[in-house]
Amino acid sequence: MHALIVGGGVAGPTTAMALQKAGITSVVYEAHPDGVSERGAFLSLFANGMDALRAVDAHQLVVERSFAVTSIEFATGSGKRLRDARIDQDRFGRLSEPRTLRRAELCRVLAEEAGRRGIRVESGKQLVSAVRTPAGRIMATFKDGSEAEGDLLVGADGIHSVVRRMIDPVAPRPRYTGEDLVCGYASKAPVSAPDETMRMVYGKRAFFAYLTTPGGDTWWFVNIPGSTSAPDNPAAATPEEWKRRGLERVAGDDRAASDLIRATEDDVVGISVFDIASTPLWHAGPMVIIGDAAHAAAPNAGHGASMALEDSVVLAKCLRDMPGVDAAFTRYEQLRRPRVEELVATSASMKRRAIPGPLQRLLRDFMLSRLLKDGPRNAAPWLTRHHIDSEEKTVPEVKDRQ
Ligand SMILES: Cc1cc2nc3c(=O)[nH]c(=O)nc-3n(C[C@H](O)[C@H](O)[C@H](O)COP(=O)(O)OP(=O)(O)OC[C@H]3O[C@@H](n4cnc5c(N)ncnc54)[C@H](O)[C@@H]3O)c2cc1C
Repeated sequence: MHALIVGGGVAGPTTAMALQKAGITSVVYEAHPDGVSERGAFLSLFANGMDALRAVDAHQLVVERSFAVTSIEFATGSGKRLRDARIDQDRFGRLSEPRTLRRAELCRVLAEEAGRRGIRVESGKQLVSAVRTPAGRIMATFKDGSEAEGDLLVGADGIHSVVRRMIDPVAPRPRYTGEDLVCGYASKAPVSAPDETMRMVYGKRAFFAYLTTPGGDTWWFVNIPGSTSAPDNPAAATPEEWKRRGLERVAGDDRAASDLIRATEDDVVGISVFDIASTPLWHAGPMVIIGDAAHAAAPNAGHGASMALEDSVVLAKCLRDMPGVDAAFTRYEQLRRPRVEELVATSASMKRRAIPGPLQRLLRDFMLSRLLKDGPRNAAPWLTRHHIDSEEKTVPEVKDRQ
């Protein structure tokens, strides 16, 4: 069996490696001419994401290219410390502690490793269409006019997925959450966070967070309200404009946030946040979607990449164990949909806490102090303690066995 994998981000190369372990060959087609663009956000992979990487023997590589963030300090905008918390990492000990790195670096590590294992990862290949062949296979056509044929096509092409639209032309469009996220990297920062710690500040008008890398740079992001309708081209704003918008929102809070934003040069990027509450169809014939293409969450819960990694492993297991592609896709969807849709809902509710109105803010600060006063606790064990046993055989759902 041969798979065409569209998208060389987080899920694409991981799926290719997982399929290889299942005895299925694949090629990864990435639209971007240089692989993945440099500018962009940083992200954290939690124990469950690292666990999924372990299933494809890629966790150690990511450990080597990332750093640990094991604690969170929560504070109000006035600087009042609410609580410190350890991030859950109990399952496998130190190797599975949460790891932080730039998203572009994660994609690069995964694509390089797939290449090292003999999997072709082709850049500058933007999928434009795909059709069934008379023999029941699938033929993909790329913008450069080239074509590729396979037994199945995996859409790992992110939130604005074209594969999703090919599966269901009336699939819901990603919804703009009304929030933008400004992310910056300061090399000579006047403010730093303690080792392995992310400081999260619930400010008067914005949520601000920062951490300091082992090399001494400080990485930060701030959630800010965006425009009321979907922005046409957020990338058109300059780093200066994004800094100005961030500064406006943290004015009046503890100085750390504004000092950090001012100290950052032009390594600043603004991102408009979209999500998809539910995608009705995940597969049709030989096509299936995974990762953000199937279920994009706002980044507030910090789990989209971990979920994309989990999808990759589960999809490969289903293709390995189930009788035929259709049964495999059906089982994959059954296993994944409840979990990922709960993440989307959780992230959306966290977004409401991040940028509250004045009354909501009073309530939020009261709730946070109550919620956080009882000492370290894992806020979301259902997210981080999830384990996929890649050796265990996937079986049909009970009702499908009858
Ligand atoms: C600001 C921000 C912060 C985040 N923080 C976290 C975090 O802390 N932890 C976490 O787990 N997640 C985080 N996420 C979410 C995470 O980045 C995504 O969930 C994850 O990247 C999804 O992986 P994916 O492979 O599905 O899609 P992507 O990583 O988006 O990859 C899709 C790839 O497909 C390519 N592509 C698109 N269209 C085509 C086409 N037609 N043909 C060929 N290729 C195509 C794209 O160029 C891209 O490389 C964050 C997201 C944002 C925006």
